[in-house]
Amino acid sequence: MGARKPPWWRAVWLGIGMLCVGMFLSGPEVPMNRIKPRYSRSLYDITPLPPEQVRELAARLDEESYRVTQRAGTEPPFCGRFWNHKEPGIYVCVVCGLPLYSSAHKYDSGTGWPSFFQPIDPEHVVRRPDLSYGMVRTELCCARCGAHLGHVFEDGPPPTGERHCLNSAALRFYPEGAELPPESRPVEPEVAYFAGGCFWGIEYYFQQGPGVIDAIAGYMQGHVENPTYEQVCSGTTGHAETVKVIYDPRRISYRQLLEAFFRMHDPTQLNRQGPDIGEQYRSGIWYVNEEQRRQALEYIAELERSGRYGGRRIVTQVEPAKVFYPAEDYHQDYIARTGRPCHVANPWE
Ligand code: FE
Repeated sequence: MGARKPPWWRAVWLGIGMLCVGMFLSGPEVPMNRIKPRYSRSLYDITPLPPEQVRELAARLDEESYRVTQRAGTEPPFCGRFWNHKEPGIYVCVVCGLPLYSSAHKYDSGTGWPSFFQPIDPEHVVRRPDLSYGMVRTELCCARCGAHLGHVFEDGPPPTGERHCLNSAALRFYPEGAELPPESRPVEPEVAYFAGGCFWGIEYYFQQGPGVIDAIAGYMQGHVENPTYEQVCSGTTGHAETVKVIYDPRRISYRQLLEAFFRMHDPTQLNRQGPDIGEQYRSGIWYVNEEQRRQALEYIAELERSGRYGGRRIVTQVEPAKVFYPAEDYHQDYIARTGRPCHVANPWE
């Protein structure tokens, strides 16, 4: 047993405890411009919105939608707009517009609340434990804005056996064929191709780019169909190890990709990068349209004028993109999976 502490001591501990809980609830201080955009499998931007933007959006809601989404309220059964609604279409978050549920997954649960057996995309809805009112439940929230939507229960129909019990006031409906506002549409990705030596590191760092949806290692600009790694390494197929970058042009520009690409490799080395020697390690930009060609040539001219390479000539090839062949599975996400160090510098720092 320790010695009894005076009452002020308890107050100090209470203060420290409250401070810790406060820090835990508010989360780490991450500047918003450093939060990496996130995309769902169905290609919607699901980057969490900053609190001030959520507050702004919530301020436009009617009283009931505000109470439900921002105060975890529940509307009375058999009263909401959508409990008995049967039109084909999609239901989006009333706050931020992210598509959440489809009429294709709606069913009559008899509860008086709109019920679905699954969301439109599992990544669009976040599940959180909810211990309020002495019950153990799982709360459903919008993945993008955090709006409270309802709860999920295990007594739904096949194929999931789940009942997503929603509040009508948390949803907005768009009938099939209606024009959707930008916040309810998937991103329209664009594609760019870069060859900068061994594709492991280039793929890894493009993957980290804010606004890059995916980066894939592969082979390009050769004259053999479906080449294998061994064929490419033999130097007889003409392919270059290439990274296909799929990106969201609303978040990152082709120019920013070009800048990152030139930070990642040495464009003055002919048919090699560091320890890797051979034509498949050549530096190249394979453009998919005239605009990419123009920007690539313009940036290369700019770099040459800048003196960054001390008078050495940039040998990067700029050619129209031929067929891209994805590399074997064991080359994909190689650095991320193996943790192997890589000589490529992080271009986003
Ligand atoms: Fe939302």
